[in-house]
Amino acid sequence: MRRLIRVLLLGGMLVSCGMDPSLDSPITINHDRCVGSTCRVCERACPYDAIHFYGPEDKPVVDPDKCTQCGICVRECPYQAITGRPQ
Ligand code: SF4
Ligand code: SF4
Repeated sequence: MRRLIRVLLLGGMLVSCGMDPSLDSPITINHDRCVGSTCRVCERACPYDAIHFYGPEDKPVVDPDKCTQCGICVRECPYQAITGRPQ
């Protein structure tokens, strides 16, 4: 629960600053390319429950504590909105 609150706060703060909420993760989601909650492919594809939707635009945020950098979301996003350095 504490982790979820931290991600909510982090996502909210960065979204309000106009920054990418996943900046502190090696996996970055480009919110300009992402079509938002009508898609949710990345959220369903993540085997570690590391992607959730937050903020006024309801865009995905990566939880760096849960993300293992497996790279599945990078491959699965149909809009090439996710980049990173899969391990
Ligand atoms: S799969 Fe891509 S386009 Fe779809 S919600 Fe995730 S980041 Fe956005
Ligand atoms: S890289 Fe893997 S663990 Fe990290 S958010 Fe994407 S699917 Fe989830």
